[in-house]
This record gives sequence, structure tokens and C-alpha cells, in this order.
Amino acid sequence: MPKNLYPLDSTKKFTDQMYVGHNRWHPDVPANVTVKPGDVFRVDCREWFDGAIVNDDSADDVLNAPLSTVHVLSGPFAVEGAEPGDLLIVDIVDVGPIPQEDSGPLAGQGWGYTGVFAKSNGGGFLTDQFPDAYKVIWDFRGQTATSRHIPGVSFTGIVHPGLMGTAPSAELLAKWTQRETALIATDPNRVPPLALPPLPQDAILGTLSGADFDNAAAEGARTAPPRENGGNQDIKNFTKGTRVFYPVFVPGAKLSMGDLHFSQGDGEITFCGAIEMGGFIDLHVDLIKGGMETYGVSENAIFMPGNVDPQYSQWLAFSGTCVTLDGEQKYLDSHLSYQRACLHAIDYLTTFGYSAIQAYMILGAAPIEGRLSGVVDIPNSCSTVYIPTAIFDFDVAPSASGPHQIDPGMGVPMAQG
Ligand code: ZN
Repeated sequence: MPKNLYPLDSTKKFTDQMYVGHNRWHPDVPANVTVKPGDVFRVDCREWFDGAIVNDDSADDVLNAPLSTVHVLSGPFAVEGAEPGDLLIVDIVDVGPIPQEDSGPLAGQGWGYTGVFAKSNGGGFLTDQFPDAYKVIWDFRGQTATSRHIPGVSFTGIVHPGLMGTAPSAELLAKWTQRETALIATDPNRVPPLALPPLPQDAILGTLSGADFDNAAAEGARTAPPRENGGNQDIKNFTKGTRVFYPVFVPGAKLSMGDLHFSQGDGEITFCGAIEMGGFIDLHVDLIKGGMETYGVSENAIFMPGNVDPQYSQWLAFSGTCVTLDGEQKYLDSHLSYQRACLHAIDYLTTFGYSAIQAYMILGAAPIEGRLSGVVDIPNSCSTVYIPTAIFDFDVAPSASGPHQIDPGMGVPMAQG
């Protein structure tokens, strides 16, 4: 095991740890740890809500989930010699849940969760169909996830960090704030909001204090969206073996990471989220001096995915086009066509006895594939969603004998508020 340069105590809150990380992007957050190109090291990560979501059969914690507190990130790590314009090579040497035998109270200790936010608290990809808060608990055994809330399903997880990235420069941060604020201004009272503006409340900024803290808290970018620095990209294929090339915008690069997932379907459509957990990630870092110009990377990370994906060979796929549920034709709207593909998959799975929310949770958590199959055939884009048939312990394909009926069990807990 590589040396753990960022140990976290699972019994303590994020702000009570030896190193205090951060939950906003700002160039002034000081590096907690310095590493050299060529170093291999371990980093512990808290689950994204810092323990606010518990292993029980109620979704009230998801209903009241404090979005102002996320994501709790480990770091920043300064990389010696990194300068703006370089590419930072980050290899994911290993990644997994909290390595201990005993199950414990923190997600990652033998279990994880998938939630759906209430529409009034962030919503999700299908918030019009699922406006309430829900939660599913998944139990881990080795690489396999099962849930007492979703019978008849077990699958091999695709373990990855949802969030990793370098610090923005002051100029880049200002650009983010300008463009996102302009978007919010087009419909400032929308529920859920169009974007999340800087929010000093609950900001955590490493070792910053006093006026420096106040300034960074007022300016710091929220961590929910992916941006030029990588960030919350939620790419399920960032598995062990992945190599990422991040643009460097500040001296030292200031790499941070968190939001570990035991598994996730493409799109992380449930938003709260994939299968969320705390855990560890082993990294190797290196630099390509001047690599941004050399390789034409003006912004946005490039990567080579790992090769430890679950081995599924048969899929049941659903397609959707960009026609609303009310029958309105939209123009090449791939977000809508992916929603329609997912809704078709949910409708199908309910014929086997699943509730619609159980089916939604399967799509959010299992390693399903989502694709933009056609984006040019005006007026309809075609999106598709592929479900591995082997995750079900019955035959899920259509047949003349009709759908096998499962016992839905206790079902998915919905928040009572
Ligand atoms: Zn997540």
C-alpha cells in the first residue's frame, strides 16, 4: 500500500480532521500536502455529504440533505514544479471503499446509498416524474452490490471518483461566475435552480482564515458542475487504471478529489447520486511541461479510461427521441431524448413488478451505458440506454410467456418530511 498522505478518521467530521479540505473551488485555498512528479500516494476521501446520509429505511436525511456543504474534497495537493500551461498526469492506481472489515456508520464501510433529491432541493434528471426525496441502501460484498430495497438485482460495481480536478486561476474562476450568474439571471426563481452561485454559507476552505477566508468564501465556485478543471465530471469509467491529463491553471496545480462512487450508470441520473461512499484512492502524478499548448488542450481534461469495467456481454437497450411527454417536437435535444429513453426503460421494468422509483434507482446505480446514438437526423436526436441483462436474477428479455413477476419487497423509502 502506498504511503497515505491524506489520512481521514471515519469517526470524525470533515472539519475535525488532521487536514481540512475544501468544498469550493478557489485558487487561494492553500495546498495541504506537496508531492513530487513520480510520487505514488494514498488519499482518503469522505463521502460527499460528510456522513449526513445514514444506513436506514427512511429518506428524510436525503430530503434535508445540506447541498450548501458539498462536495467535501480531499486536498489540495501541490505538485512540485507544476506551472500554468502544463498538463498534470494523474494515474488512478487503485480506488475502493473504506478498507476495514467491520461495517460502520459511514457510507463506504460495507454499504453505500443512492438518493433522489426532492424537486425543491435540487431535483434530478427525471424530477418531473419523481418530485419527492428517496433513498436506497446498497450492501457491498467484494465487487458486488445488492439492496434490500430492490430485490432481484445484483451487479458488479464500477468504482471511480466522481470528482477530481485542478484549481482554477483567478481569471478562470471569474469567467465561471460571470457565465453561470448570467444563466441564473434568465430565470432567477426557477425550481430547481439553473445553476448554483457562490455561497459563503457552509464554505470550507482548508487553512484559510480571516479576510482571506471571507474573500474566498464569497468568490469560491460551487463544486456541483464539471468545468474546464475537470471537477464533478461523474465519469463512471474513471476506474482503477485510468490516466487523466488535467490542465494546470495555478502554480503547483492544486489537485483535489472526492465523491467516490462504488458504481454508477451513465449520466448519474439520480443526482444524489451514484452509489455514494467514502474510501481511498491511490494516485501517481507526473507532469508534461507545456503540455497544454503541445497537445492543443486549451481547457478541459483528457483521459484514458481504466480497463477493469464489469464484464457484461448482453444488454437490453431502450431508445428515446426528443419529443416531450405532451407530444411537443423539440430540435435535436439530446438531454430530452435520453430522458425519454430512461423513461421507456422504467416503464418496461415496472411490468416485472418493480415500482417506477425502484427502476429509476437501478438506472442510476447499476453500470448501465448511455449513448448519443444519433445527433444529426433533424428534428430528432436519438439517445439510448443499455442495461446489462445479467444484473437481474430472472430473464428480463421480452418473451411470449410474459414478464416474470418479482416480489417488490419493502420498496424504496420515500421521505415523509
Ligand atoms: Zn457522487
